[in-house]
Amino acid sequence: MAVLDQLTSQQAIDLENKHGAHNYHPLPVVLSKGEGVYVWDVEGKKYYDFLSAYSAVNQGHCHPKIVGAMVNQAQTLTLTSRAFYNDMLGRYEKFATELFGFDKLLPMNTGAEAVETALKLCRKWAYEVKGINENDAQIVVCENNFHGRTTTIISFSNDPVARKNFGPYTNGFIKIEYNNLKALEEALESDKNIAGFLVEPIQGEAGVYVPSEGYLAAAKVLCEKHNVLFIADEVQTGIARTGKMLAVDHENVKPDILILGKALSGGAYPVSGVLANDNIMNVIKPGNHGSTFGGNPVAAAVAIAALEVVEEEKLAENAERLGKIFREEIAAFTEQTDLVNSVRGKGLLNAILINDTEESSTAWDICIKLRDNGLLAKPTHGNIIRFAPPLVMNEEQLRDCISIIKKTISEFKK
Ligand SMILES: *Cc1c(COP(=O)(O)O)cnc(C)c1O
Repeated sequence: MAVLDQLTSQQAIDLENKHGAHNYHPLPVVLSKGEGVYVWDVEGKKYYDFLSAYSAVNQGHCHPKIVGAMVNQAQTLTLTSRAFYNDMLGRYEKFATELFGFDKLLPMNTGAEAVETALKLCRKWAYEVKGINENDAQIVVCENNFHGRTTTIISFSNDPVARKNFGPYTNGFIKIEYNNLKALEEALESDKNIAGFLVEPIQGEAGVYVPSEGYLAAAKVLCEKHNVLFIADEVQTGIARTGKMLAVDHENVKPDILILGKALSGGAYPVSGVLANDNIMNVIKPGNHGSTFGGNPVAAAVAIAALEVVEEEKLAENAERLGKIFREEIAAFTEQTDLVNSVRGKGLLNAILINDTEESSTAWDICIKLRDNGLLAKPTHGNIIRFAPPLVMNEEQLRDCISIIKKTISEFKK
């Protein structure tokens, strides 16, 4: 078989299983094309994408404006490294800092790298500005967090699957309960060496846990009181997903450090970044931090286009409106079925809780049936199914999807 011959789904799956590391457990569907809210498998079957690559494809698959910017830049200049200036990075930095209201941007590629960048930035600020003694800085994080897969980040995860046998772990993190202001206050009061509080405005991977209203705003006030940096990981919640450009915008919170990734490129290219004002970002000096690909011209061109699409197509407003319809319809449906306990979320980041244990295969089996009925979603933590379609969806498509979900679950037999 020549490498580029047309494959069947089974052949593609077999190839990955045989030649690829088994670090994922994908739903058995092999995709070969995407456009807007749709993807197609290699046999030509069409699906609604209800995962959007974990909210990376908010602008829809292969958005012509984003792909156009990428192709155009790829034919002109792809990579210089930061050893030299390029004529796209500054434009992107100006655009993004003005849009999000920060002095400076530090460009990286993946979400985990941007989180690492934020942690390093926070620590350096603690020693050089706040005046904490070297190596004493602590960063407060939340239980059930998901911030990526590097050695340091998994050091403060409490997911045994992500952690076990990857030690020794990185020190300097204090874990507290999510959505618990008292726990945050106690941590801040009991330790003078706290430099930052790293938090997801909604815990996506944990199963779309939305904190109580006012949690983020009150946490920000506590951080200010103790001169601790409020670090928002908006890699999944940012870029219009929850019905505002940023999830912290729902509570008018301005983070000290903002972490973006995923939909910053509309899923076309790995683009992430960290934003902060000068009093923080200026602790980073030449040689302190970097990335060969970070801030490359293709990334810059793609990110500008991706952010423009969000604004031009009013994706935040659309996510807000469709999200309300989705939760209303599914909440009404939970009254008619024993299989779904509840629906929760914000904007178009939602999840349903399946009435079964985390160890059960019910949510997985429902996702297989959803696939058969033309809609792709994936369970998280065994009994939770996340629903996060591209934000370019229209109301008619959403209502079509809601009926697929209702029909699938109504017909489902364990
Ligand atoms: C996906 C995600 C990350 C990690 O991003 P990668 O690009 O996979 O490294 C970090 N934080 C949050 C909240 C995420 O959802």
